[in-house]
Amino acid sequence: MTGVGQASGGVATELLEASSRYIDEGIFEGAASVSPIDGRLADFGNGMALVLSFSHVIAVEDGDGLALVDTSTAALAPRALAALQTWSDAPVRTIVYTHGHVDHVGGARLFSDEAAASGERRPRVVAHEAVDARFARYDLTPGYNALINARQFGRRAAVGVGQGDWPSEWLRPETTFRDRMTLRVGGEVVELRHARGETDDHAWLWMPDRRVVCGGDFLTWVFPNAGNPQKVQRYPGEWALALREMAAMRPELFLPAHGLPITGAERIARVLDDIATALESLVRQTVTLMNAGARLDDITREVQVPTELADRPYLRATYDEPEFVVHNIWRLYGGWWDGDPAHLKPAGAAELATELADLAGGAERLASRATELAVAGDLRLACHLAELATQAAPSSTECHAARAEVYRARRDGEVSLMARGLYAAAAAESVDRSTNEPTDTPANDSMDEPALGSARRGECS
Ligand SMILES: [Zn+2]
Repeated sequence: MTGVGQASGGVATELLEASSRYIDEGIFEGAASVSPIDGRLADFGNGMALVLSFSHVIAVEDGDGLALVDTSTAALAPRALAALQTWSDAPVRTIVYTHGHVDHVGGARLFSDEAAASGERRPRVVAHEAVDARFARYDLTPGYNALINARQFGRRAAVGVGQGDWPSEWLRPETTFRDRMTLRVGGEVVELRHARGETDDHAWLWMPDRRVVCGGDFLTWVFPNAGNPQKVQRYPGEWALALREMAAMRPELFLPAHGLPITGAERIARVLDDIATALESLVRQTVTLMNAGARLDDITREVQVPTELADRPYLRATYDEPEFVVHNIWRLYGGWWDGDPAHLKPAGAAELATELADLAGGAERLASRATELAVAGDLRLACHLAELATQAAPSSTECHAARAEVYRARRDGEVSLMARGLYAAAAAESVDRSTNEPTDTPANDSMDEPALGSARRGECS
């Protein structure tokens, strides 16, 4: 294969030029500019294309049919399929999941059904062996997953909604691997490699003939989603190692599952090194403080991403954020206890709040102080007092009104989608209880990437 990284289509050229400019000049023009999901197809030549979606769908022609890497969500797959059909009428023979998140596997059934409807054999599905256990976990916790995704994306977190829009039918991989696997796509070798990072079931692909890496969610043009407060363990240190292993291949084209493709061996190596360095720095700082006996509270306050890295256009904390990653590092190497002896077997939250409200002169006093602090800009402290006020007086409309205001202000002061979503959900709870009429509080209404926010609804990391 030749013509590595040479975009033969207008969209591919446009995307590669944009990513080169952002990386080389360090420009950040907003989350939407680095995360296109508009359904267009980028043709990279030599029988390789990428459909911009959530996740992207990467296709490789092998003479006999197509191999896909990821399938987008069930909702977005029809658009991705239509885009692919304008590019190739070959049937899909193979589907590789980079991991089992619903935005990567949700569209698989459509592609499989489409092959069957055309009288072709169904594609074989290839993935890491832990994908099946993920699906089993999802089947055990559909209510929880519907709820936390609603919260993460700022929708009303209605406890007891049940399964909601959480999927229940998975197209399970029949070919699995543990560490490495070599696939043949046409005459071409495709190496699958496992590493833990965002998930425990992640695979990334190396195509030596093309010098292409398909990186899954290891590089997504946002600060690594290694902290996510509501979700299972992530692996920041192993994530960094995987990035370094990718860089060692000297790829000339990098195709991520989210965000812009990147061309040029030097440029790709620089980006991979920056992201790895940011993660390694968080791990090193956190573990150093753990070894010195620090409590989690001290550690989250102290650990920072080196400033020059935090400003990179592919490391912006618009989705997850470093503070959350520190919690995950603590959890990975330590336990759930934060080191505060009072938190080991604590009093009930309402009991503590009632005691403090009595000391302060009433729950309303806590609420009004919360409002003052919020106005003064100390939103971290304001949230504690607002929370205590409503825990001490759960039926006080006045306390809930204050709490709603404090969390709205908190949402507005945050940048990451996760923090904004969770604070918006908290505000919505109190909006309901500060009046007697339920109202909808959109969480991410003032975000500059509404399309991204709604598209990410399906993510289940
Ligand atoms: Zn993803």
